[in-house]
Amino acid sequence: MFKIKEISFLAPGVLQALIEAPLIAKKAEAGQFIIIRSTEKGERIPLTIADYDKAKGIISIVFQVLGKSTTQLAGLKAGDMLTDMLGPQGNPSEITHFGHVAVIGGGVGVAAAYPIIKSLKKAGNTIISIAGFRSSENIFWLDKLKEFSDILLASTNDGSYGQKGLVTDILKDLLDKNEKIDRVIAIGPAIMMKSAADLTKKYNLKITVSLNSLMVCGMGMCGACRVTVGGKTKFTCMDGPDFDGHLVDFKELMTRLDSYKNEEKICLEKWTLECADAAR
Ligand code: NAD
Repeated sequence: MFKIKEISFLAPGVLQALIEAPLIAKKAEAGQFIIIRSTEKGERIPLTIADYDKAKGIISIVFQVLGKSTTQLAGLKAGDMLTDMLGPQGNPSEITHFGHVAVIGGGVGVAAAYPIIKSLKKAGNTIISIAGFRSSENIFWLDKLKEFSDILLASTNDGSYGQKGLVTDILKDLLDKNEKIDRVIAIGPAIMMKSAADLTKKYNLKITVSLNSLMVCGMGMCGACRVTVGGKTKFTCMDGPDFDGHLVDFKELMTRLDSYKNEEKICLEKWTLECADAAR
């Protein structure tokens, strides 16, 4: 059992939970994830470790309320226990001296980008952080990004904060202006990572993407998270989550991500009705 120390909203539908997990915090590195179940019969949810405090033995997760399991998770309070948690899973992100690194985070992906930004800065890189949100009300953690960024740029789709448009528009502007960038790292919606990969290809610039494929076991056995990278089948949980963005078959990834949308909707509706019945 793992105790929730704090849980709060960062933006509408987006929450941060601080969880007591000393052994996971001790081993955690940027880019890794955990798999949690909030109840005994609950679904296993993979979530990137958004921050960790090794001394205090605490990890931080940021999640979006989307279906039944994340709604259940959002209903927990400080002091409640998570049934189980597996991790840290996945390979840590490559942290080395690339030089000038542009790290792009889209929406909730900003939380997953944060530990990478922090570690790359500590490794001596010059960091250009680019964060994209739908609107100003969806913004979170810009202050945390700023602490480890040499340049911090932000966009909103509706122009209510920062540059109006998509996060990739900012990257394009920088590349068009010949800003020195040695490596791009993109984390967020699959379509955003595809767009960033297509863009960097034109500029012959390497890009690493952190994939968010569907995952069940997180240990390379079930195959749910399989993706095609460079024509070969890879498991996001064991071979990733980071991959060369120019080699990822994004079309397949996006099709697979949508596979259970209908079932997820039905599951949430059924559970909501059950909760309403139980409350009567
Ligand atoms: P969102 O739909 O609000 O989009 C966030 C931003 O991404 C937008 O503001 C825009 O700047 C950019 N974007 C969106 N569509 C784009 C396009 N077609 N081209 C270029 N840029 C585009 O995002 P959200 O609802 O917060 O969802 C975040 C996503 O990030 C989820 O799909 C989640 O699974 C993923 N995620 C991935 C990881 C990971 O480790 N890979 C971690 C956390 C979240």
